[in-house]
Amino acid sequence: MGDFLTDSEKRAIVHVDMDAFYASVECLDDRSLTGQPVVVGGLGSRGVVATASYAARKFGVHSAMPMGRARRLCPSAHYIKPRMQRYREKSAEVFTIFRDFTPLVEGLSLDEAFLDVSASLKLFGSPENIGREIKQRIRQDTGLTASVGLAHNKFLAKLASDIRKPDGLVLVDPEQVHAFLDPMPISRLWGIGKRTAPKLKALGILTIGQLRRTDLSVLRPVLGNRSGHYQRLANGIDDREVEPVRPDKSISHEVTFDTDLAERPELLAELQRQAESVSRRLRAQRLMASTVVVKIRDPGFHTVTRSRSLRAGSNSTQTLYRMARALFEKWHESHKTTAIRLLGMGVTGLEDAGSGDHDTGDRLDSNSDQQIDRVFDSINQRYGDAKIVHGQTLRRKKP
Ligand SMILES: [Mg+2]
Repeated sequence: MGDFLTDSEKRAIVHVDMDAFYASVECLDDRSLTGQPVVVGGLGSRGVVATASYAARKFGVHSAMPMGRARRLCPSAHYIKPRMQRYREKSAEVFTIFRDFTPLVEGLSLDEAFLDVSASLKLFGSPENIGREIKQRIRQDTGLTASVGLAHNKFLAKLASDIRKPDGLVLVDPEQVHAFLDPMPISRLWGIGKRTAPKLKALGILTIGQLRRTDLSVLRPVLGNRSGHYQRLANGIDDREVEPVRPDKSISHEVTFDTDLAERPELLAELQRQAESVSRRLRAQRLMASTVVVKIRDPGFHTVTRSRSLRAGSNSTQTLYRMARALFEKWHESHKTTAIRLLGMGVTGLEDAGSGDHDTGDRLDSNSDQQIDRVFDSINQRYGDAKIVHGQTLRRKKP
């Protein structure tokens, strides 16, 4: 079947959309909310719903609805003011996962992205398999669920992610495009909004299939010079590329070992060096990080990343190392005999450190011998937290 496809039909585009993202993060942080109607949004008199949990949607509450109306529809819901910083943290975790699958990630918002995984197919098998793995990683690493649409272009992938929410996975077969699109209402075409839809309806065009079969000369009085564009979309044709926007600012450090390494102390020493390097760069740029990421690759080139948010932004070596070590050790518990080919750690969710207590970077001594000495000191002292004092000790060396 694949042999009959054009090059553009061989692309593999994934659209990932987190399910009721803000509300789901609130439920994650307060388990008593799980399954309850939860509405996140502006709580003032002119507030608007940002996200409603699926339990709240059953009452007819949806995003962009005035909060007053939501309260009338569902008085028993939990109404919560958005915590954007927390959502950004969780978003950074999710996007870190995306970038394990492909560098071609185009974020549309905190909870939504296109991924071009065409070049990753060999590594992960079928598009469906990648979709399943992305969902599984998101669930496993962040505790959240996502809906995934897979197709050979962005338009179809985005529609696909939306039709089986929540926790959906829908693949559009290039040969089933018309069957998939034709029954959909024209409002599903990007750009056909409240103004245009009634005019098309007046022409008897209610579905994408009807628009697809309508002569361009009939469409032109309504759709103007965009008529051809809409008809191409109605045919499932969309050649736009996934355009990776600049990734979330992040700083990382990783090492591929000359020979695969299985010794825990040596691995921890490496992690310690990396925490040192990453935190020093953070301090030099007067940044703090909210999420720590550890990356581990085994000799079979199987790569896992583990990430977790800190309770508060930090650029302290000790804090970052402690989190990286915790992430590593959790993985290591179940992989004690696995040799490691590559080990890395990094941070995301960066923000200005301001002029607070954390701003110590410009006074750090970068003498590497001293650092390595201290790394091994701390290892010898069996990883006691109090012993890992690099930043503090080095700080005193230079006026
Ligand atoms: Mg969403």
